[in-house]
Amino acid sequence: MTRILFWIALLVLIIAAIRSKLRGIVPPPGQESAARPAAREAETMIACAHCHVYFPESEAVKAGGREYCSPDHARLPPA
Ligand SMILES: [Zn+2]
Repeated sequence: MTRILFWIALLVLIIAAIRSKLRGIVPPPGQESAARPAAREAETMIACAHCHVYFPESEAVKAGGREYCSPDHARLPPA
């Protein structure tokens, strides 16, 4: 009797191991599409006209046709 239980337990463990491996290889469809766009979109980096520090273009403060890293630097003259 114990031999039969041993083989049943071993079979269950093998099936569980195979299932967990298959889950690791094929990610769920929702997860994959959510992770890819963020990795693809690399934001353009621009240099501040005053301090020349690079920062994302979306955070730029525009003044006088130039981009600045902050409103404080927009008030200061370009270096
Ligand atoms: Zn700056």
